[in-house]
Formats: sequence, structure tokens, C-alpha cells
Amino acid sequence: MKNPCLGCGVCCTQYRVSFHWSETTAHPLGTVPVELTAPLRRHEVVMRGTDSASPYCVALAGVPKVDAYCAIHGRHPSCCRAVEVGSDQCVRARRAHGLPDLSPDLDPSPPLAPLPDLPQAA
Ligand code: SF4
Ligand code: SF4
Repeated sequence: MKNPCLGCGVCCTQYRVSFHWSETTAHPLGTVPVELTAPLRRHEVVMRGTDSASPYCVALAGVPKVDAYCAIHGRHPSCCRAVEVGSDQCVRARRAHGLPDLSPDLDPSPPLAPLPDLPQAA
């Protein structure tokens, strides 16, 4: 099943994405490139582009609703990973962009079941 987030990306253009600075590469164990963030509050940073009236994350590559994807996937903040397909945040973002609701059953975050073995050639 195709990951429904691939080519969507509208939640990355809808919300302020803020998180603890220790998730950035300014911390030895952080993964989010610190240069893609800006200070927000004392211990908090924000993904650049999302702290505005028209949020648009600097890490969003491609075109939303066409071929969008997260350019730092795998290194993105925990708050992004927490937005599940079919969640309130997902549904609200998709409705704001005229897209239909998705079922949480489509969430690709749990490992996908392995494909059944193909029949062996005789
Ligand atoms: S979580 Fe929802 S809104 Fe965000 S990219 Fe995936 S399908 Fe689109
Ligand atoms: S870091 Fe990636 S997943 Fe998070 S808002 Fe930006 S583009 Fe979207």
C-alpha cells in the first residue's frame, strides 16, 4: 500500500512545528539540522517557515498535494512523527486543502505486513 503521506505534505503547511532544542544537531544526540530551525522560547525551537500566519516548513520538498515529501525524513522532529494519518491534525490539514479524510487504518507508521511469498515456479 502506498504511504498516503507521500505526495500529500499538507500538514507541513498548516501548523507551527516547535520542539525541544535537544532534538537538533546542536545536541550530540539530536538529528534535526539546527540550521533549519529558529529559536522560539527558552528551551524550544521551531522549524523555519512554520512560525507564521501561513506556515510552510523549510524542510518540505516538492509540491504539496503533488509530490511533496519531508527532505529530512528520518531526522525530523518527534512532533512530526506524532502526526498520524487520520489523526485530528491530519484531517484538519487535509480539509483545509480540500482533501478527503483518511482513515487511521492507513497509517504507515506500524511496519507493513510482509508480502505473501510468490508461488514457486514448477
Ligand atoms: S499525516 Fe495526513 S496531512 Fe500529513 S502528510 Fe500524511 S496524509 Fe497528509
Ligand atoms: S520537518 Fe518534515 S515532517 Fe516535519 S513539518 Fe517539516 S517537512 Fe513536515
